[in-house]
Amino acid sequence: MKQTNVLGLEAPLVHAIAAVRRRYEESHGEKSDISLTTLIGPPLISELKRRHDDELTEDASDVIYALFGSLAHEILRGVADGMEGYLVEKRLYANVRGWKLSGALDIAYYRHQDAGYRLDDWKVVSVWEALNGPKPDKTAQLNCLAEFMRRNGYGPVNSLRLVYLFRDWSKRKAQRGEHPPTQVQMVDVPTWTSEETNAYLDARVRLHQEARALRDDAIPLCTPSERWEAEPAYAVMKTGRKSALRLLPTLDEAESWKAKNGGTHIDVRPGEPTRCLSFCAAAPVCRFGKELLKPKDELLENLKASLEIQGTALNSPKSEEHYYDKVFNRGTAP
Ligand code: SF4
Repeated sequence: MKQTNVLGLEAPLVHAIAAVRRRYEESHGEKSDISLTTLIGPPLISELKRRHDDELTEDASDVIYALFGSLAHEILRGVADGMEGYLVEKRLYANVRGWKLSGALDIAYYRHQDAGYRLDDWKVVSVWEALNGPKPDKTAQLNCLAEFMRRNGYGPVNSLRLVYLFRDWSKRKAQRGEHPPTQVQMVDVPTWTSEETNAYLDARVRLHQEARALRDDAIPLCTPSERWEAEPAYAVMKTGRKSALRLLPTLDEAESWKAKNGGTHIDVRPGEPTRCLSFCAAAPVCRFGKELLKPKDELLENLKASLEIQGTALNSPKSEEHYYDKVFNRGTAP
C-alpha cells in the first residue's frame, strides 16, 4: 500500500509512520500463511488488500494512532523484557487446515510456569472502545493466542485481560461519569475451552481459504457487524413534518408508539457502515465500498444498489433522503 502525505508533514514523522507500518506488515506476514489479526478479520478486506496492494493508498496523517500504539509497546517491551515472571512480545505459530498461522502475544505473566499464565493484551485506544465492553474479535484474539501458547508448550493459560491505555481520556469527563475513572483500565476477558478455540480457528481458516479461491466479486460481503454498522432505527413520521416524532430501536416499538401518540407512517433508517465509510483501506476496490464513495450525484442510486447487494431495501423516499444526507454530510464523497 502506498503512503501519501497530503499535509506535507516533515520527513522524520512520515518516515517513522512508514517504519511502523512496514514493521507491522512484515511481522504479520512473516513466515506464515496468515496472521491471527487478519484471520479474525473479514476475508473480503484481507483478500482485497492482498490482491490490490499497489492500487491502495493510505495517508500518513490517518495512521498517527498506529505510531502512538507502537511507542507504548516499544517502551513497555523495553522495560518488561527479561523481568522475572514475564513473557514479552513473543511470536507464536500454529498449523490449522494446512495453513501456518502466526500471532504475537503482548505479555504473559506467570508465578510458576507449570501453574499457568495470565495473558494480557495492551491496547492504546479511545475510551469508546472500552465503554461497551470487550469486542468479540478481541475475545477471540486472546483465546486464540492462549491456544497458540498451549500448542507451543507454555503450559495452561488461566486468565485473559485487556489492558486499555486511553489516548483520549479526560479527567473532567471521568469526574462527570462520562469516561472511565482512570486512564488505564484492566478488563477480564472470558476464556474458551481448547475445543471451542480450535473449532473457531478451523472455521476461520476455512472461510479465508474459500475466499482465496474466489474472484473479488464472489467473496461474501463483510457482515453488518464487520462493517461496524449501527442497528437500524425506526422513525415515527408525520406527513408535512421533516423531522421524526420519535426514533425507536424496533419496528414493534415504533408501531406501538405511533398507535398511542399518533403519526402517519414509519421510516426505516439503516445504520451507516462506519468501517466502510471511514476506516476500511480496501473500500476503494470493494464493490460495496466503491458505491459509497461515488460522487454526490451518483450516490443515491448507487447506495440503493449497494443495499440491494446486501439484501436490504430502503422502504421510503424519506429513508433514502436520510441515509443519503448522513453519508454525504460526512464528506466521504470525493
Ligand atoms: S468497504 Fe466495507 S464491505 Fe467492503 S471490504 Fe471494506 S468493510 Fe468490507
